[in-house]
Amino acid sequence: MRRQYCLILFAAIILSACSDDAVEEDAYDPAHDYFSFANTKQFTTEHVALDLVVDFEAEALRGSVTLNMRTLNQVATEIVLDTRDLTIHGVRVALANGDSLPADYRFGDRDDVRGTPLYVSLPDDARTADTFRLKLDYSTSPESTALQWLPPELTAGGKHPLMFSQSQSIHARSWIPLQDTPAVRVTYDARVKTPAELLAVMSADNDPLTPRGGEYRFEMPQPIPSYLIAIAVGNIFFAPLGEQTGVYAEPELLDSSVFEFADTQEMLEQAEKLFGPYEWGRYDLLVLPPSFPYGGMENPRLSFVTPSLLAGDRSLVSVIAHELAHSWSGNLVTNATWRDQWLNEGMTSYLESRLMEVIYDKGRVDEERVLSYRELLLDLETVPVEMQALAPRFDNGDPDEFQGTIHYSKGQLFLQYLENAFGRETFDRFLSSYFDEFGFQTIATERFLDYLDDKLLQQETSKVSRLQAEQWIYQPGLPEDAPLPTSSTLDATEALATDWANGKTELSDISTDGWSPQATVHFINSLPADLAGDRLQQLDEALGFSATQNAEIGRTWFIQVAERGHALAYEQMEAYLNRHGRGRLIYPVYLALATNGSDLERAREIFEQARAAYHPLTEAKISRALEESGR
Ligand SMILES: [Zn+2]
Repeated sequence: MRRQYCLILFAAIILSACSDDAVEEDAYDPAHDYFSFANTKQFTTEHVALDLVVDFEAEALRGSVTLNMRTLNQVATEIVLDTRDLTIHGVRVALANGDSLPADYRFGDRDDVRGTPLYVSLPDDARTADTFRLKLDYSTSPESTALQWLPPELTAGGKHPLMFSQSQSIHARSWIPLQDTPAVRVTYDARVKTPAELLAVMSADNDPLTPRGGEYRFEMPQPIPSYLIAIAVGNIFFAPLGEQTGVYAEPELLDSSVFEFADTQEMLEQAEKLFGPYEWGRYDLLVLPPSFPYGGMENPRLSFVTPSLLAGDRSLVSVIAHELAHSWSGNLVTNATWRDQWLNEGMTSYLESRLMEVIYDKGRVDEERVLSYRELLLDLETVPVEMQALAPRFDNGDPDEFQGTIHYSKGQLFLQYLENAFGRETFDRFLSSYFDEFGFQTIATERFLDYLDDKLLQQETSKVSRLQAEQWIYQPGLPEDAPLPTSSTLDATEALATDWANGKTELSDISTDGWSPQATVHFINSLPADLAGDRLQQLDEALGFSATQNAEIGRTWFIQVAERGHALAYEQMEAYLNRHGRGRLIYPVYLALATNGSDLERAREIFEQARAAYHPLTEAKISRALEESGR
């Protein structure tokens, strides 16, 4: 990896011999995307046209993609695209005058993280063209890291297969050969053929009234980065939530989804009041099977979400607020490279909390702020110091691993800090102008910082200096004057946990009725580390933590169960690890089990049994953790 990095630099700027030392510090370019092979300074893609057959039997997509490209540098004769595990059957170049020419192509060396570059030579007659179309006939492989192919038994209905994509961070290249970097924005259209009884949806103009029939057409007229191109096919149906909003799910989950996400239309309307116009037309949700690896994925016009949000009491819908808020931060204004991810996630976490305050109440949002702050403090104990900056040096490793509370919670806290300093009204004005100024663009942290400095820091003198902002962005840990989230209800449950552990309160005096799930989570996390096993068992019997249907309470409880080696609850813990597939819910439980000093083997056994139902990304992450725990 270091070697390839070296070659890129060599080609670009250096004449002297290329050695590891030569690239160590000074050559790092924060604006460069180290996780794409694409030569985007020479060619850029403007539109992507997909023509695909969804083949469940082969677990593959087959067909073609046509990339409308623009030449930025006339000297360049070779286009480099990102791919992973794709078979290319042929490449042609079509010119504006109607000529279509075959093009030579070859794969470069495979990289475990970034995949395999595809080099396409422009035919002589195409070398002076400003624009041309590149058509690649290709098929995906069952190993595609973006696509999950679920057999009927892993769906809610159990009768039809289902497939879905997860392109973020760098997995679009495993189902489309293209320039797979957030620095390039494209519009797209698609024709998708499926088994006749199934429905296809994409991150595009889904029509809720589309008749089933096995052939579907899509159009995404707004330019988006490649990681937001998304597809799902299955026995899915639509139900409206509001005028502009609705939900797609398997019929078995449709009613509960409609109940759970009933506030979506209001969220959208409130979001427009807070952040400016919603630029994407409809906003729908797609509820996927449990193996969906994340809480939600902000695919434009159609957020993909985990069924673990279906708690029956709308208590976990901050994830919907989060995905919706991405329609502004992330989808409208996009991080230029994965190193700038905090611009997407920190900003969105902040907007999410603002939205939740309007729809629900401040008490609930304060609880959520405290919980994410606690998670951040825990992470700051383990994340290497050089990765604790919001925008650290990031030219190595895996963008999927480069995601966490630093970007989400520290980023959110930074924006909260700015709001506190300048006042909500002034800060809101700044945010609206930011979305307006950079809409449908990708920007790097430095661009944000300059804009912040210009429009806010210098306008409102002596409140926050550029140096203070830079400390948040480039330094580890938290500044001394960072906001400290507090919640009176969480303080009360914490006190109760301590009092009960110290024998000052009886179990019969504790009732979780009326508690939010967040309060229960905090109560569990506040139990002292040295609590005896029989006391833990009494608590579980009285308050029913092991039997909870709330995925977040279950997560917190089973982390504790695993950390403490509380074997009496292992059966239910195992059931939980089989029921859920979302990484956030299961990964830390496995990790706690693998590192408690006695249950690594058990963790491996449970994983072996459950892994077939997990998404490849989740499976890989847990597998790696279990391997490392064994060393
Ligand atoms: Zn997000």
